[in-house]
Amino acid sequence: MQDLDPSRAEGVRRLFDLMRRVNSSTETAEVLEEIARGVVEVLGFGVAAIARLEGDYLVMTACVGPEDVRTQIIGRRTPKQRIMDEFRQADKWGILRYVPHGRVDDEFLDNAWIPDYEPEDAPEAWHPEDALYAPLYSATGELLGNMAVDFPPGNRIPNQALRDLLELFVVQAGLALSNAQQRERLAEQVRLGEIVKDVATASSLVGLVSTLERSAEALAHGFGAVQAWIRCFPDGELGRSEHAAGYPAPNPADAGLAVLRRDLGRTAWPQGAAIHLTIDAERSRALPEAREALQDLMRKYHARSLVAAPLGVGVELLGYLVIMRDTDQALNEHELAAVREIARELGRIVLNARLYERESRLVAELQELDRYKGELIATISHELKTPLTSIIGHTELLDESEHGSMSVRAIARNAQRLNQLIANLLNYSRVQDKREHVRLPVDLAELCQNSLELLQFQAEASGVRWTLSRTDGRVLVNGDPDELGRIIDNIIGNAVKYSRPGGEVEVRVSDDGEMAQVAVSDNGLGISQVDQGHLFSAFHRSSNPEALSIPGTGLGLAISRRIAEIHGGDITVQSELGEGSTFRLRLPRAANLGSASAPAS
Ligand code: ADP
Repeated sequence: MQDLDPSRAEGVRRLFDLMRRVNSSTETAEVLEEIARGVVEVLGFGVAAIARLEGDYLVMTACVGPEDVRTQIIGRRTPKQRIMDEFRQADKWGILRYVPHGRVDDEFLDNAWIPDYEPEDAPEAWHPEDALYAPLYSATGELLGNMAVDFPPGNRIPNQALRDLLELFVVQAGLALSNAQQRERLAEQVRLGEIVKDVATASSLVGLVSTLERSAEALAHGFGAVQAWIRCFPDGELGRSEHAAGYPAPNPADAGLAVLRRDLGRTAWPQGAAIHLTIDAERSRALPEAREALQDLMRKYHARSLVAAPLGVGVELLGYLVIMRDTDQALNEHELAAVREIARELGRIVLNARLYERESRLVAELQELDRYKGELIATISHELKTPLTSIIGHTELLDESEHGSMSVRAIARNAQRLNQLIANLLNYSRVQDKREHVRLPVDLAELCQNSLELLQFQAEASGVRWTLSRTDGRVLVNGDPDELGRIIDNIIGNAVKYSRPGGEVEVRVSDDGEMAQVAVSDNGLGISQVDQGHLFSAFHRSSNPEALSIPGTGLGLAISRRIAEIHGGDITVQSELGEGSTFRLRLPRAANLGSASAPAS
């Protein structure tokens, strides 16, 4: 054996001691240091250094030798590819790799650590540019690290016996790294499992927002992220509300995140893929539109990379999660699997929350419908009962001949009222389900003129004067003349009906190119702000006692608005209690007279 002092039997004992520790110790760094020390102290090499593979780099973790060498190389990062290239040029000495001087190019030597001394001129002499390595593999053949040695004993190229001994140490270093890798994987699985568990248990909290907040926090902590965001979208028939949460910063209303939704919808969904983006990436196939905006966000949050994953269940994309980290390194496959699991879990949570939201909405709608139905029955019964009571009363009075004619008038009036109510009810129920309308050219000014003439008698009886102003020419819309006439009769009729004696009603018909308008103003009772809010609901009548004393069903405006909507228009009110009101009917102007067609329904 080359220069191996028999007194180093003590050293061999240390090697076996080392083997025991490799199998039991949890301090990988210490064990590696111990192995390197064994190579130096037992085998007599001047330097022994061990690097661990971290991502795509071999990072020098343990080094035993002169202090200046140690400080020069510890922490040094060498691209894995470079070492692999060098291995390819090396002589295979069992599991060792020997690269004699002169074989690798200058560029490589510039990057390597080369001891500074004059080579000896002997065939067995070790040259400063000679290199001896041992790649460290796991049992499954995965590269985990590399051991490099220098200054062999006697400054001679190691002979077979020394190489055999060195291999023993190399095997121990490989084992130590293998053990460390297994421990780390196990720890990682536990850590990732914890994140998934944290997200899953967060769902038992009340409310989607707090669930998302807790989940964002779990994601940020679990992945060592500088920022995590979760957002779920408002659309889809299942949900209307948009919920977002972030940790530590809340979810910004950032345009980039809105574009992210489009990208993810196209590229990552429904595969459920998680997408990695670094701050310097110049393009991204998965995030073509959102890339730049996301990189701006990374700069803002001092991150260097992000992972974005879609949340969803079935075919519906429900939202996304984003994890921003201060490293360029991509998540490993286990971490990505955890992200996908979390995204699926969050998808389920969001879906459940939405189903619950929809259910609550339906329940509220049903309750409202039920309340409305009750109100409807009460109002109709009341409206039917009042005139009927009067009719019955007067029928009895008819027996007493001196009240005869008065009673007949009262009966006729109330029967008329009943008739009107039933006609309105029928109209109301008819227009509710209506979708289409007759399309004939209708001149709104003409409809107003007709309506005013019809109401002339009533206006005179109430001492109300009216004026009609109109733009030159006809103000045409396409529609059903009977239905539109009904709206105009209703709003002009109301203006007369809710005016005081001496009041004035002004009807203006105009046309602003796009829309035709009829504005009916009165200086009558007016309507309070509160009542204005419900005015167009069926059966709503003003709470103002003066208005309530005037007979009405509260159906006219509900019918009018529905007809206006069917015609693509609207009807609005402006009013001041005690001052008067203006009702405006706006309808799309007939674009082209020639196109006015025959009835469509
Ligand atoms: P009706 O007049 O048959 O009660 P409408 O639906 O036409 O039903 O009107 C609803 C309510 O709106 C009326 O009961 C009345 O209180 C109020 N209203 C409508 N038009 C006017 C108006 N021009 N001035 C004051 N109040 C009005």
